[in-house]
Formats: sequence, structure tokens, C-alpha cells
Amino acid sequence: MSNGTRVYENVTRQFNRAAEFMNLEPDVRRILSEPMNEITVNFPAILDDGRVEMFTAYRVQHNNVLGPFKGGLRFHPEVDIDEVRALATWMTWKTALVDLPFGGAKGGIQIDPKQYSAQELERITRRFTFALGNNIGPEFDIPAPDMNTDAQIMAWILDTYLSIIPPQERQRCYHVVTGKPVDLGGSLGRDKATGQGVVYLIERWAEDYGLDLAGSTYFIQGFGNVGSWTARLMKPLGAKLVAVEDASGALVNPDGIDPDDLGEYAAEHRGTADYPKASSADHRTFLSTRADIFIPAALENQITAETAPLLNVRLVAEGANGPTDTDGDRILQERGIHVLPDILCNAGGVIVSYFEWLQNKRSEFWDLEEVDAKLHKKLIRAYERVKQKSEEYATDWRTGAYVIALSRLQSVYRGRGIFP
Ligand code: NAD
Repeated sequence: MSNGTRVYENVTRQFNRAAEFMNLEPDVRRILSEPMNEITVNFPAILDDGRVEMFTAYRVQHNNVLGPFKGGLRFHPEVDIDEVRALATWMTWKTALVDLPFGGAKGGIQIDPKQYSAQELERITRRFTFALGNNIGPEFDIPAPDMNTDAQIMAWILDTYLSIIPPQERQRCYHVVTGKPVDLGGSLGRDKATGQGVVYLIERWAEDYGLDLAGSTYFIQGFGNVGSWTARLMKPLGAKLVAVEDASGALVNPDGIDPDDLGEYAAEHRGTADYPKASSADHRTFLSTRADIFIPAALENQITAETAPLLNVRLVAEGANGPTDTDGDRILQERGIHVLPDILCNAGGVIVSYFEWLQNKRSEFWDLEEVDAKLHKKLIRAYERVKQKSEEYATDWRTGAYVIALSRLQSVYRGRGIFP
């Protein structure tokens, strides 16, 4: 079974569990249990040595009953249709939970980006955008960065998309992607948005549950966009980073690792391996780190029946999508470890993507204080609703979050009915 299939099984189990818990109407349940559209494209791109290579990519549009499809684009060698289905489904729940006028989608190119030059990645990205054609669009389906994709990739998508539509429409289509460079219509604060959201929520949780962040300890899996921004923003709060793991291995230092220093090192060395101010550790030792908080910000299915018993923390704040499977969830619950679920915890990225989309539509440019203040307000409101719903139903926060998201979708289906 592929990793993607396991991830999709997890999203399906989470959905079924919540649907049963809240007695979701059977018709709505049937509709939401499958993605609306699944696009697979096989396309050629020319490599630097003149050879032509074929690539496979996916865009899954799970649901758009609340607004245009919205979701990131991932470059990863193991991306498959099931993984993209799962990630698209989580996007539908996330946008519904945090009250955005968007649906859920996700895309992925099956590629190891490290094997290609910047020029090759540009040609691959542009040719993929061309192959998608009108399957994306500013009022239809709006990609954004995810694993191994960044503002530069979004800039190439933007430029290619604008080049293939009529010239008269170009100026009003900049919102076809979010997470763009600021000079090209991106929003201030989008680069750090997901990490910023994770930190706002941890701060609020710490206040509610009596954890003094000054002097507290945490560890992070993943030191890319989400992980490194989260760590850098935890530093001014006085929290100490005691272990980090990325694709190149794990590092521990009970005296603390400086996120800014590690960030500079990782940028220079393309990863955290051999960082001289910490010791290397194996994966199990990393997961067993004694700390107040664990922040998974890399891959899916990391906290499972096998690994959940290793954790020695009070809180798991899910920066990644789907880091905990349903067995892992059960064990964390039994052990009294609190979870800030992914569809809440990492929603800062899509919230600021929405702000970018709005700024582009209105030809506005908001300052960073405005973006941060609006992000804080939206996320904390969602946090309060999840807390209140979980208490009302005496359930865990993931189920509470699902109940809110699914209720919103159910009410829209009730109102609109099913055509014809
Ligand atoms: P990224 O590509 O910037 O960083 C990924 C990090 O994970 C890297 O440090 C990489 O080395 C590490 N990693 C990869 N394989 C690993 C392994 N086997 N063990 C340990 N670490 C490993 O990606 P990102 O944008 O930071 O995304 C990370 C997670 O956050 C993903 O689940 C993504 O879907 C989710 N997410 C991202 C955003 C966003 O705005 N970028 C928003 C919401 C959720």
C-alpha cells in the first residue's frame, strides 16, 4: 500500500468518525465522501541536456460548494492520486472550519525537485500550468505553495497562466495563485503565515491551559516553510527549541537550538545535517524528547500506534497536514496529550492566501500589521469555536473541528438542494 493510500484511509476514517458522531445527513455524507473532480496530466518537459522527460501530476478538486477550489501544490517523488485526494479533502474541512469563501483542492507533481536545476523546474512548472489550462482560474481553482514549492514557483504559474488567457483579462487575474512574491501581487505576511498561525494558537492554548511559554520547551519535525517560521516566531516568546528533524536527520540539544542560527545554516547547507551546535539523534530518540510541545511540520502519518506511546509532551500542535493517524489520536487522547488539529492549527496559510486573493481582487495592498491582526482575529475565533464545541460534545478537538466544518457544509447543501 502506498503512503498516499494510507493517508487517504486516514482522512476517510476521520471523516466517517465525525459523520457518525454528529449524525451527518446520509446524502451530504455521500457527496462529501468523494472528490468532485480529479485531473491527472502527463506532460513533457525539456531537460538541460536536451532530453525530453515525461512527468505525471495531479489536481484534485474535492468540493466547491462554499466557493472556488483552493489548495497548495506539492512537488514530491511519492505524490500519488490518493495523497492528493486526502490533502484536497482536508482543505475542504479547513476552509469550512475557518469560515472562508473557498472549497478544497490540492495538486502534486511526482518529482524529486533536488534532481533538477532551477531552469528545469521552471520549464516543468510552466508546462504543468499549460497542461492544466482552464482547470485552474482566479474564480475557479487557486493554487498556493506547499511542500517543496515556494513564491518563485507561484510566480511561474502566474506568468504562464496570464500568457495563455486573452490580453484584455490579464490585469484582473493576478489572484489565480496565492503565495506569490510581494512584488508580483503577493501579500505581506504570507511567507510566515502558517507558522504565525501555529504560534498564535499555541500562545492562546498556553494561556488557557496554564503553560508559561517563557522557559517552556518544544521540538519540531520539519524545518521548511512551516517549521522554520514557527521556530523563529516561538523564540521571542522565550520558548526553547530542544530538537529538530528534517529530511537529513534529527538534532537534539537540551540547552536549546537557536532557530535563526539554524535557519542560516540550513539555507547554506540545504538542510540541518551536521549542524555543529547540536548532537545528531535517531528518529525514536527524537520522538521521545521530553518537552512541553511537539510540532510536527513535515509529513503525514508520523504519530501512529507505534510512535504515539513515545511522545513525552503536553501538546501536539499540528503544523503539517495529517501528521496523526486515527490510532495515534486514540493513544494521545488516552495519555492526556492535547492536540491542536491540523485543520485549525495550520489554517494560517490559507487564511492569508484569502487575504492575498482579496487584495488582488480589490487592487489593495495591506500592511503587515493589518494582515497579522486579521489573521489573529480569524484564527482565535475558530479556536474558540472548536474549544466550545468540543466541550459541549465532550469530545476531542479534532472531532469538534470536524463537527463545525461539516455542519457548515451540511447547511449549505440543505439550502441549495441537489440539482436537478
Ligand atoms: P517545505 O517543503 O518547506 O518543508 C518540509 C520540511 O519537511 C523540510 O524541512 C524537509 O526536510 C522535512 N522533511 C521531509 N521529509 C522528512 C522526513 N522523512 N523526516 C523529517 N523531516 C522531513 O514544506 P512546508 O510548506 O513547510 O510544509 C510542511 C507541512 O505543512 C506539509 O504537511 C504541508 O502540507 C503543511 N502545510 C504547509 C502550508 C504552507 O503554507 N506552506 C500550509 C498548511 C500546511
